Amino acid sequence: PPDVEQLGRSTWTLLHSMAATYPEKASTEHQNNMQGFLKFFSKLYPCWVCADDFQTWMAHPSGRNQPKLGSRKEFGWWMCEAHNEVNRKLGKKEFDCRFWEERWRSGWKD
Ligand code: FAD
Repeated sequence: PPDVEQLGRSTWTLLHSMAATYPEKASTEHQNNMQGFLKFFSKLYPCWVCADDFQTWMAHPSGRNQPKLGSRKEFGWWMCEAHNEVNRKLGKKEFDCRFWEERWRSGWKD
């Protein structure tokens, strides 16, 4: 089976990078593409327990965890919250999402 930690770090890099390069204001087509990506991603992510929990989180009946895809700012924040949800589950420190852009877009050393 894949190394869940290594896979996770690589995947968060991909996901946050996708948010960091997301349009400042996304067209309907772009939003639909990302919606589709996240839907399939959450079914196909090759750590099945991770994928199951992530899908369940996104599909919360209140609708509060649905991807926010209107703009880079919204999407980046949403991705940060999604990652924090996993951090909490694993007993890791939460990330202060105010620093999301600095971490994933303008860049700092980690
Ligand atoms: P990671 O959590 O991989 O983070 C990498 C870097 O991202 C950090 O060094 C930090 O700089 C930055 N970062 C941290 N938090 C945030 C945030 N909220 N927003 C932005 N940047 C942040 N592992 C399991 O064992 N069980 C699971 O159920 C599970 N579910 C997962 C679901 C998904 C969708 C993904 C992508 C990964 C999942 N993982 C799961 C893996 C887990 O999240 C970690 O990637 C793995 O444990 C390695 O953790 P890490 O401490 O190296 O840093």
